Amino acid sequence: MIRVGIIGGGAAGLTAAAFCENAHVTLLEKNEKAGKKLYITGKGRCNVTNNCALYEFFPKIVHGEKFMMSSLNAFPPPAFMEFLGSGGVRLKTERGNRVFPMSDKSSDIIKALVNKAKEKAEILTDVTVKSISRDEVFKVETDRGEYIFDKIIIATGGVSYKATGSTGDGYKFAKVFGHKIITPVPALCAIDLISDVKLLEGLSLRNVRASVTLCGKTFSEFGEMLFTDKGVSGPIILTLGSYINRYPLKGEKIYIDFKPALAPNTLDERLISDFGEMPNKDLSNILTNLLPSAIIPYVLAQSGINPRTKGHSVTREQRYALGFSVKNLAFAIKGLADIDTAVITSGGVDLKEVNPKTMESKLCEGLYFAGEVLDIDALTGGFNIQCAAATGRAAGIAASGGTK
Ligand SMILES: Cc1cc2nc3c(=O)[nH]c(=O)nc-3n(C[C@H](O)[C@H](O)[C@H](O)COP(=O)(O)OP(=O)(O)OC[C@H]3O[C@@H](n4cnc5c(N)ncnc54)[C@H](O)[C@@H]3O)c2cc1C
Repeated sequence: MIRVGIIGGGAAGLTAAAFCENAHVTLLEKNEKAGKKLYITGKGRCNVTNNCALYEFFPKIVHGEKFMMSSLNAFPPPAFMEFLGSGGVRLKTERGNRVFPMSDKSSDIIKALVNKAKEKAEILTDVTVKSISRDEVFKVETDRGEYIFDKIIIATGGVSYKATGSTGDGYKFAKVFGHKIITPVPALCAIDLISDVKLLEGLSLRNVRASVTLCGKTFSEFGEMLFTDKGVSGPIILTLGSYINRYPLKGEKIYIDFKPALAPNTLDERLISDFGEMPNKDLSNILTNLLPSAIIPYVLAQSGINPRTKGHSVTREQRYALGFSVKNLAFAIKGLADIDTAVITSGGVDLKEVNPKTMESKLCEGLYFAGEVLDIDALTGGFNIQCAAATGRAAGIAASGGTK
């Protein structure tokens, strides 16, 4: 019987194990148990997939969309959900087609994946793979001795949240076989600012638009965001982080539109009306009708207007400058937050060197990759775990020689 070794017991490795057929399968996981990263996903609830139609799914893949077509078509969200169900977990679908375990406990997803993997594989925990080499067979050196396999699936994840075990070992293993590694960068991550925003820390905003223009291309997102001690975070910022992570960032600005629903002339009319109603009040007070108080000093500073200016004495130029700042408050970007704090790693094993149907290396026969170790990353909403599972399934079937 063919011997398949799977390195890594996350979503990708466990799904790969579950889909192996007619093989002696051993999964090696360095943690004391499998699925440590899954445990913290979806704030402990695990948004395990997104049950949207595939034509809506693909645009959510930021890098690797084309590569994912084959494996996702073969294992779309409903198939993954059925698979999880057969592992014993009941699921529910929430707003935006996001799928969670009925219990809201990520541990139930882990249990289901481990149950399914155990049907086909032996899971060995507390085993750290140190190196992989190949002559006739693959030799896997671990801290618990050597293992011999005919086929290997590398499912070691990226380099984010290293405490969960994803420390980038897979890149090192892949390089030994000649694979190019696209430099790992943070994705779905906060953005650190040069501008001092300490006074704004904790301020969360809804219905705003954040935009960044890089190399002539504008990335713009509408929704919720928040200020941290070092910069900005929250849903729309995480998305922007994924879009801008492959551009060199050096002092570019992120612009926040606090009133995206108001056209500039409508906003101007609103300012005229507010100033007319409160002619003897300070601007800093009048603007509380329009903006959160903490933001007002920043808007006035960018507009070059003294906060003490009374409503009746605001000039037309000042009003225009104010309206512009409300719709374009600029903060200088320092860079993306540290990769360890990113929800996902962008970059990894170059997809050009991997067969998208089987996940087999084009450089080394019998070597396969699955999950976040590959240069694939998607937006939030359950898309990343689904990609890990779909690539895992494809690798498991192909490595064990199955035909499903
Ligand atoms: C805070 C957070 C929240 C998230 N929430 C969601 C969400 O709700 N929905 C979603 O779709 N995605 C979410 N993600 C992303 C998602 O968790 C990952 O994309 C997915 O888990 C990747 O699975 P993987 O199996 O490829 O890698 P991993 O889950 O990283 O698994 C890799 C495994 O390999 C093991 N390993 C590594 N090196 C070795 C070695 N040398 N020897 C042995 N074992 C090794 C590791 O210990 C680890 O268990 C979230 C991520 C984070 C950090």
